[in-house]
Amino acid sequence: MRTIDKLSQELGGLAGRTVLVRSDLNVPLDGSTITDDGRVRASVPTITHLTEAGARVVVCAHLGRPKGAPEAKYSLAPVARRLGELVGDGTSVTFVEETVGARAAAAVAALADGDVLVLENLRFNPGETAKADEERADFAHALADLADAFVSDGFGVVHRAQASVYDVARLLPHAAGELVRSEVEVMRRLREDPQRPYAVILGGAKVSDKLGVIESLITVADRVLVGGGMVFTFLKAQGHEVGTSLLEEDQVDTVRGYLETAAERGVEIVLPTDIVVADSFSADAAHEVVAADAIPADRMGLDIGPESEEVFARALADARTIFWNGPMGAFEMAPYASGTRAVARCLVERTRDGAMTVVGGGDSAAAVREFGHADDDFGHISTGGGASLEYLEGKELPGLQVLEERA
Ligand code: ADP
Ligand code: MG
Repeated sequence: MRTIDKLSQELGGLAGRTVLVRSDLNVPLDGSTITDDGRVRASVPTITHLTEAGARVVVCAHLGRPKGAPEAKYSLAPVARRLGELVGDGTSVTFVEETVGARAAAAVAALADGDVLVLENLRFNPGETAKADEERADFAHALADLADAFVSDGFGVVHRAQASVYDVARLLPHAAGELVRSEVEVMRRLREDPQRPYAVILGGAKVSDKLGVIESLITVADRVLVGGGMVFTFLKAQGHEVGTSLLEEDQVDTVRGYLETAAERGVEIVLPTDIVVADSFSADAAHEVVAADAIPADRMGLDIGPESEEVFARALADARTIFWNGPMGAFEMAPYASGTRAVARCLVERTRDGAMTVVGGGDSAAAVREFGHADDDFGHISTGGGASLEYLEGKELPGLQVLEERA
């Protein structure tokens, strides 16, 4: 992957050049308030690197899932404001309510060296995510017309073959941004050369979201700890009843296969021994702790129990590398946050002891920040849940592959 400095050399410097940057600014919003600005902060180093080199920086990104047309609630305007605060007073950050077109072009033309312009949500244009290659290419051409070079820095989208991620990189001289490079470096170490013991903690809602990565990590890791909604499919595969908990019946056989593979390879699968169960999926529901193999038929498991927290802590105590994806319970509701909190605390401790710890997954990252942890309490908090999982699974990511090609 070409660095920004290498691109700069090839272009004879970046001063006065217009550089299109694909960032990942897909943050959670409550109205127009950003509830976790992690991704905005993570996008700053590349933007600053470019402005300091005298480039005119045009930032493009998506927010949420609009259906190819403008929708006020998905406007990037509040995110552009936050970016302006984060890059600081010395830099002008403006926003244009258009992605490509006459107004966008005029805003680009008005940039001075070292200025930043944020374009409106890419996904207000159907071409961004179009299945048809020509439709995506048309939109990519319109984006490329705005700039002299392209920097790919949206790690959270590099597993998508979308116009602003993939197609535009084929049209302009390009480089990988700082965020993409640092994320890939961390994931590469996890994939190729983890210090052992290597423990993986998997949770979150569904097994079916994460089948590929479970299958590959189960052969690479020394220990796999499972919690969250997906654990009930594991418990069922072991022959236990799980009441009204999240269960994917159609995955029970697959999971049974994983348990067998793990046993053959000497990989330890660590499951919770107790579960917090409730009457219903609600913070006010009556709840109690039961043994993991004795979940009543009318109860729903919403967190791992206190004994499991200790079992998990012991399983992590000597780990030199820990990758964590997916909360241990429905942590958004206070009565079911304890397991996720406990795992976060373990990772913080292991980080202090010098282990390499990585938190991947949007909800997991939001959880640790909500619990008050700082980013540097962990070795790395990935900005890209899906992308990091696909990388660890060993897949080729189109947005990274294209950076190996010459435009
Ligand atoms: P990430 O974004 O970190 O990859 P996921 O998106 O896979 O994580 O899953 C996060 C969601 O899983 C959270 O909204 C959480 O409430 C939910 N979840 C975790 N445990 C349970 C459970 N036992 N029952 C229902 N939902 C759960
Ligand atoms: Mg999620």
